[in-house]
Amino acid sequence: MEKIRLGRTNLMVTRVGFGGIPIQRLTENEAIDVVKKCFELGINFFDTANGYTTSEERIGKALKGYREKVILATKTHARNPEELSKNLELSLKRLNVDYIDLYQFHGVSDFPSLDKILEPDGVMAVVEKARARGIVRHIGISSHQIDVAKKAVSSGCFETIMFPFNFIESEVADELIPLCRKLDVGFICMKPIAGGLVDNASIAIKYLLQYRDIALIPGIEKIAEIEEIVKIVDHAPNMNDAEKSEMRRIRETLGARFCHRCDYCQPCTMEIPISTVMNGKSVYKRMPPERFFTLSMDEAIEKATKCSDCGECEKRCPYHLPIRDMIKEQVSWYQHLTSNNEKNISKSSVRGHH
Ligand code: SF4
Ligand code: SF4
Repeated sequence: MEKIRLGRTNLMVTRVGFGGIPIQRLTENEAIDVVKKCFELGINFFDTANGYTTSEERIGKALKGYREKVILATKTHARNPEELSKNLELSLKRLNVDYIDLYQFHGVSDFPSLDKILEPDGVMAVVEKARARGIVRHIGISSHQIDVAKKAVSSGCFETIMFPFNFIESEVADELIPLCRKLDVGFICMKPIAGGLVDNASIAIKYLLQYRDIALIPGIEKIAEIEEIVKIVDHAPNMNDAEKSEMRRIRETLGARFCHRCDYCQPCTMEIPISTVMNGKSVYKRMPPERFFTLSMDEAIEKATKCSDCGECEKRCPYHLPIRDMIKEQVSWYQHLTSNNEKNISKSSVRGHH
């Protein structure tokens, strides 16, 4: 598969990499088979995170013996130096390697978190020391919030940024990607299939392949999925007219009710974590049931049942989403799931593209 240069890291990664969230839902043997198949099909870029439970360890097992041939990226949520050192050590152990190619600060979506990472003697200093010792080769960041992402890219402290980009949420093409090009920061596209909400993965991938200098990391769970994606990248990267009009149709239907997790709608007068509630279905499609049905999701939904209909959030949403209606829909979807005792739902019925 064709490779691209990942900004000033100078790492040459395949245009499509491996997103490591969904393999948590598989058995260990299934997960190892999927990762190995990706490697055999020519993929050389594997992304995971300290927070994705079994993902790092499974990738480590699958790629044992191929260290020099692959580029491994992982992430940490740690925001204090002691925790970061522990996370880094854990990632090295789980991946079974003595260095990580790209170490990323995970989910930095507000300014105080970014400032905390960069404060003197903070976590960035720890990662920089690890880089000086060769344990970490490059430093990146992931975010869901465009203004925070732009500030991170402009700071000069990160060599890559990972951000959601797909044909539903495509605003990054106007500002963030040009900024990355200007500052030579590698752009890694997360949620290329809109977090599993777009059923037509082929169209979603073809849309992104127009951007020739970004790396995509779709979450891969089945061998058939990666075979299909590789075929598109290698042999049929362009959309035909029918696919273009289908893309427009999906964009119009889904786009009008698509939450971008920007949190501009906050603060909610009833303290409802609006974006968490709105994105429940997408998370459900990607995570193992035991990670989705958590106390915090129960609490978020419980809060959402108390929505006072004040409408304040809708005035602030830049996408003019009908938040109140969408919250009600999400609450009833969740209640339906739990009342049917689907907390124990079989994995096979919820699998899908990420
Ligand atoms: S309408 Fe509901 S969700 Fe929106 S701010 Fe008011 S209470 Fe919060
Ligand atoms: S509801 Fe609107 S403002 Fe709130 S997180 Fe979603 S897209 Fe952003």
